[in-house]
Amino acid sequence: MIEETTLPRVLSGTSARPRTWEQHLAVFGPPPAGASLSDQLDEAGLRGRGGGAFATARKVRHLRDLRGRHKFVVVNAMEGEPASHKDLTLASTNPHLILDGAQYLAHAIGANRIAVCAARDNPRVINHLQRAIHERERSGTPKVAFELQTPPWRYVAGEESALVHWLDDHEALPQYRPDRPHVARIGQAPVLVDNAETCAHVALIHRYGAAWYRALGTEGSPGSTLVSVSGAVARPVVLEVALGATLREILDAAHAVARPRAVLLGGYGGSWLDGSLLDVPYTHEDLEPLGASIGAGVIVVLADDACGIVETQRVVRWMANESARQCGPCAFGLPALADDLSHLARAGRDAGVARDRLIERCRVIEGRGACRHPDGVVRLVRSALRVFADDAADHSRGVACSGALTGSTYVRVPALEREEELVWE
Ligand code: SF4
Repeated sequence: MIEETTLPRVLSGTSARPRTWEQHLAVFGPPPAGASLSDQLDEAGLRGRGGGAFATARKVRHLRDLRGRHKFVVVNAMEGEPASHKDLTLASTNPHLILDGAQYLAHAIGANRIAVCAARDNPRVINHLQRAIHERERSGTPKVAFELQTPPWRYVAGEESALVHWLDDHEALPQYRPDRPHVARIGQAPVLVDNAETCAHVALIHRYGAAWYRALGTEGSPGSTLVSVSGAVARPVVLEVALGATLREILDAAHAVARPRAVLLGGYGGSWLDGSLLDVPYTHEDLEPLGASIGAGVIVVLADDACGIVETQRVVRWMANESARQCGPCAFGLPALADDLSHLARAGRDAGVARDRLIERCRVIEGRGACRHPDGVVRLVRSALRVFADDAADHSRGVACSGALTGSTYVRVPALEREEELVWE
């Protein structure tokens, strides 16, 4: 058993190779028996690690209480956020924790199928999970069979409803969803979707209990969490940290630059936070009043020589290309936002007009998409206009800030694809 206040937990035993099934049992102990998983998750206060931070116990109870001959558990290991590497890190370390958690969840809701989803463009995650599934099958362990599914990688393909849509009829497009609790379905079968990291925490909570889990973290944000830190750091890294650690402590552990200009929190649909606010604890309750969130567990560090407007423009352009363009806000709104940000970043004659238009466009786009993809972009743009207000003012007057002139960029943006190359499956 891992000591209750010791880190790492889900990443314990990091080594060159993923733990085998035998090593996994030797380290974490045999599977638990007896305790009610939903009660344990309730007491632990586990919230999903995929971005929405929804209470896991509530989802489990809702699915458990539904009738139906067939139910699914879907493990989301799609690593949809380009700045996130936690699914790969977890699958490279303790893949059996992910599978344990999925198995316990399946038992709790009465599911007869478990689909583990990893992007087909991410062969290392696929290999680690495939090997782990084979090891369990050879040992005769799984009561519910695992199937590995490999949808195409796109930003929105990892969105919960898009993933279920792909499993249902091989279209990786988000679906309209009313507010939760809402049950996604494959055919008629209700589906419980949980992120890979969430499953790993479920595995440990079911073994060691809620009190063990709560020995780290805060009352409102208990436990530990994985954070992918990149940008102005010695090298991109995935850390397991106790919730409640300050942003500064996390950045120090990642060997980030001493005085960052700002940090991007949550992911590409997250928010910028000014570099003067690094003493804030990394918790849901402390970040929310600042307009930020833990989201997908991403922190990107901007050094002093960066231009926040340029960085935001690059991300928004990419996000505009990543949408499925099946709704107006994505088909027209996001490219227009990206164009206005380009004008503002170039600090040309029309930069001031573009800045004013951005504010209005955000208002028009927000809440109008079938999924929350455009809302994430709006959140990012608004936070940029707030945190980089001085840069935006300079650019509006035709004066590009020094960051824009140096051309230093810290947010990794996958290659932008031309519109005509976008192919949806
Ligand atoms: S809002 Fe955008 S990403 Fe979401 S379903 Fe509509 S077109 Fe697709």
